[in-house]
Amino acid sequence: MKSLKTTCVHAGTIRDDKTMGVNSPIYTSTAYGYLDFDEAVYPRYYNIPNTVALGEKIAALEQAERGMVFSSGMAAISSILLAFLQKGDHAIFQTGLYGGTFHFVTAELERFGIEYDIAADNDISSFKNLVRDNTRVIYIETPSNPLLKITDIRATAELAREAGLISVIDNTFASPINQVPLTMDIDISLHSATKYLGGHSDICAGAIACNEENFLKIRSMARSLGGSLNAQDVYLLERSIKTLALRVEQQNLNAGILAEKLSEHKAVGRVHYPGLPSHPDHELAKSQMTGFGGMLSFELKDVDPVEFQRKLKLISSAVSLGGLDSTICSPALTSHRHLTAEEKVREGITDPLLRLSVGVEDAEDLLEDLEQAF
Ligand SMILES: *Cc1c(COP(=O)(O)O)cnc(C)c1O
Repeated sequence: MKSLKTTCVHAGTIRDDKTMGVNSPIYTSTAYGYLDFDEAVYPRYYNIPNTVALGEKIAALEQAERGMVFSSGMAAISSILLAFLQKGDHAIFQTGLYGGTFHFVTAELERFGIEYDIAADNDISSFKNLVRDNTRVIYIETPSNPLLKITDIRATAELAREAGLISVIDNTFASPINQVPLTMDIDISLHSATKYLGGHSDICAGAIACNEENFLKIRSMARSLGGSLNAQDVYLLERSIKTLALRVEQQNLNAGILAEKLSEHKAVGRVHYPGLPSHPDHELAKSQMTGFGGMLSFELKDVDPVEFQRKLKLISSAVSLGGLDSTICSPALTSHRHLTAEEKVREGITDPLLRLSVGVEDAEDLLEDLEQAF
């Protein structure tokens, strides 16, 4: 395999034979000739040239046979789950899922006659206890949102192999620069490409990577659900991924510096960052990640979290994550606002908790901004 930076730039580029331009041409058609082809080409079939080429780039980054792009992370997630689960089947989900995934699971699966359990904690023994005869899928998300908890990827994959389950990971927070789950025997890795893969807070997209057999099953379901991405945005996403490794390396570096400084600050309580030796799963994170990512969260002490966010000048208070610009949000007021007080306590979501998505600015400037807001 080529190095990550080279793969980011070159994998899956469409050759421009007409002018030898360096960029992939954008194929905008929705109507394609059919007489000389085995299979009709159509955007919703996920087989137009730009979609296929970007799939190759994703596959190269995730070290998979096949990759695929969608119009959102949720389009990818729903296509995967409905591709592998049918009436009478059972699935296991880890706790601390992304809100949209949690909603899809709890609001929709039952209507399809699909049973599920959400694990009480993310220990492998807890997963194991939930396996039944009809279990087909195990689904994890690590690092998790917003407390950056770590699930053991290798142990999950091994359990899946033993029990004959399809293992699925939401790899959004780590990005393929920091974590390559298929090298640890996971079957399907997925992304909200809206976050790090897109990286500029201007594209909504999703991505998956897996082997050929699973790809064909997922693509077949995806063609019915219809969550395909248009060629223009596919091109924009391709362009973004060319700088993915550069961006994520800088974000890893910045987040590491900020996490350390924040954990020494008198106005800050707990800091959640898998790169900190004080993180309860630091050793596990080290064993499965090559970088610890750009996401961290921390609790303010005796500082009003809303006032604090309003005072920030460089860091925008905004939902979503993974962009060039640093953004901050209060999980209690955004992703987790619908939880009851009791559920918030159980999930560890307190009012003074803030989640920071560290961008590619200079770490010193970010520290200065945080300092003046305390
Ligand atoms: C944002 C997000 C999703 C959903 O992706 P969309 O692109 O918003 O559909 C799924 N998982 C994680 C971890 C996310 O952060």
